[in-house]
Amino acid sequence: METEIVRITDVKAQAGDIARAGKLLRGGGLVAFPTETVYGLGANGFDAAACARIYAAKGRPSDNPLILHVCDRAMVDEVAAEVTPMAERLLAAFCPGPLTLIMRRREVVPDRITGGLATVGVRMPESVVARALIRAAGVPVAAPSANVSGRPSPTTAASVYRDMQGRIPLILDGGPCRFGVESTIVDCTGPVAVILRPGAITREMLTEVLGGVKLDPALVGAKVVPRAPGMKYKHYAPNAPLTLLEGDPTKMVPAFRRQVRQLQAAGHRVGVLASHEVVMALQDLVPSPLLADYGAQGDLLTIASRLYEQLIAFNDTDADVLLGEGMADTGLGLAIMNRLHKASGFHSLQI
Ligand code: AMP
Ligand code: MG
Repeated sequence: METEIVRITDVKAQAGDIARAGKLLRGGGLVAFPTETVYGLGANGFDAAACARIYAAKGRPSDNPLILHVCDRAMVDEVAAEVTPMAERLLAAFCPGPLTLIMRRREVVPDRITGGLATVGVRMPESVVARALIRAAGVPVAAPSANVSGRPSPTTAASVYRDMQGRIPLILDGGPCRFGVESTIVDCTGPVAVILRPGAITREMLTEVLGGVKLDPALVGAKVVPRAPGMKYKHYAPNAPLTLLEGDPTKMVPAFRRQVRQLQAAGHRVGVLASHEVVMALQDLVPSPLLADYGAQGDLLTIASRLYEQLIAFNDTDADVLLGEGMADTGLGLAIMNRLHKASGFHSLQI
């Protein structure tokens, strides 16, 4: 199968392209599309056979449910059996935006999407391309990230193409994604909201709107099965093993210099994913293709938006070990550290 890439810069002027993509989706085909978080691999959310194609294209474990993407508030009611007052407040405060709500599902939602759960994840993306596409399809669009299962999520159309080339007919290219980490998932089915996956809608933002919010114990290291089934799988991993250095940001430079020297002395080609401050201080030790600058320390929006593409880029280098710089898990730092811990298989050194 040929994979076509169509650049979308103006949804109104390109209404014909959007209509064609919507028709393809509605008819059971797969279309990759941009959102403000990462690129999604979409299928008609009411068509179990189309959704099965997503699992095949990604090699995704079949018990890992898909999020349904809607274009407006009315479409939420098509898939959720009940929108509780808590869910209503979150919809009003953050949607459209990078937030997925877990709610009780309607019967029309295929088991193929929910992994047989009584709940469904619903998200209304802010991206105008994404919403125009869903509107054109006329149905909720089931979509996981558009990567081969286990690899970092794509935040550019080129990365989608690399993973999905020959497996899907169409990619809509809306340029790089703004946030770069997947949506925050909040379970709204109980008395207190529970964050199942951290994202750009932070714990602090949710607390402000709801008064209280809990973190799924699986996120803070407890040895329990996560309630978002997908969170238990290996994820975001580059080819070379990654170790994180965590601790006081002002001690990162000497800690990195020490670790890099030790690894190089043992014959390794060391790649580094770190802040601008650390990268600048390693230029005499590490060749520039192996140095990835994820942004200034504390510039969390930039770090999140660059993270996955930089992890992917190491796969084109000869690095055989990677070192990454950790950060505090406040605000967007919680989402970034969640992804880095998974990418590293939880290998960290406290400095
Ligand atoms: P991805 O589409 O790759 O961003 O992954 C979607 C994430 O949402 C996975 O971690 C799923 O396990 C999670 N998810 C989707 N639907 C549900 C649901 N009904 N209950 C809990 N987690 C869900
Ligand atoms: Mg994913």
